Amino acid sequence: VDPPKGVRIIDVELFGVKGLSCSYVIEAAEPILIETGPATVLDAVVRGLEEMSVVPRHVVLTHIHLDHGGGAGHVARLFPEATIWVHEFGAPHVADPTRLVASARRIYGDALETMWGVPEPVPDPRVRAMDEGTVIRAGDRELHVIYTPGHARHEVTIVDPDSGAAFIGDTAGVLLGPDWQKPATPPPEFDLEAALDSIERVRGLKASAICFTHYGPASEPALDKASQDIRNWDAAIRPMVERAASMEELVAAVRPLHPEFGGDDDYDRAAMDLSSFESSLGGYVRYYKKRVEASSA
Ligand SMILES: [Zn+2]
Repeated sequence: VDPPKGVRIIDVELFGVKGLSCSYVIEAAEPILIETGPATVLDAVVRGLEEMSVVPRHVVLTHIHLDHGGGAGHVARLFPEATIWVHEFGAPHVADPTRLVASARRIYGDALETMWGVPEPVPDPRVRAMDEGTVIRAGDRELHVIYTPGHARHEVTIVDPDSGAAFIGDTAGVLLGPDWQKPATPPPEFDLEAALDSIERVRGLKASAICFTHYGPASEPALDKASQDIRNWDAAIRPMVERAASMEELVAAVRPLHPEFGGDDDYDRAAMDLSSFESSLGGYVRYYKKRVEASSA
């Protein structure tokens, strides 16, 4: 699928590979950058903007996971005129990333610096909280915000009425190559029903392009596949989780539902560093546990 009209793509070459993670630039009187990527890709983002001669006035994060918004503070420092837009649940953590850094440190340890970099704060007055219905006015162009939780409870989809494109972040998982999709359903916030509802909402937009952060613009069948995969994983593993199957067994149950990656080892490794089967399955396990706790409370 071609990039939508007036929209350009920066391949941020996350983990040193192409085609894994991108930022989008929307041409407007007040140019818009969607996703900063993590702090480690700052140079690639800045180079991409320079090549386009674009100075962003709006920086929009679909959500605050490090691979999407970890570089927000760095980008804000380099572009002092830019306003940073983020869902209201994520906004406090962009202004003060202390808790974000602490939880990332627990997960990644010393690898935090090399994998993602350490988020810097965005000065409070420059953070704008978004929610369902927020309109981002950028001079001659405006973007509309819809709330699409499921992957995370602070995730939004950004709609560009001019081109008809929808920027969905991880709402429908990852699409890495034309035939390779996987649910991106990490703990602790993955919510199965919310994720399916959000994918349906995106489908209802009849968007001209469904723009994944990982990676690139796609068409509607990618949404069908995304909800099918989420349901298939649920059917395969729910009974296994009830009998306390091991993570190894869970991986063995869902791995065959996807084709082999096939090809470039560096890309395969990077893709799994970004969104592993274990991480996505961990989100399901956590989700089931929360449901049991809620029903027995
Ligand atoms: Zn995410």
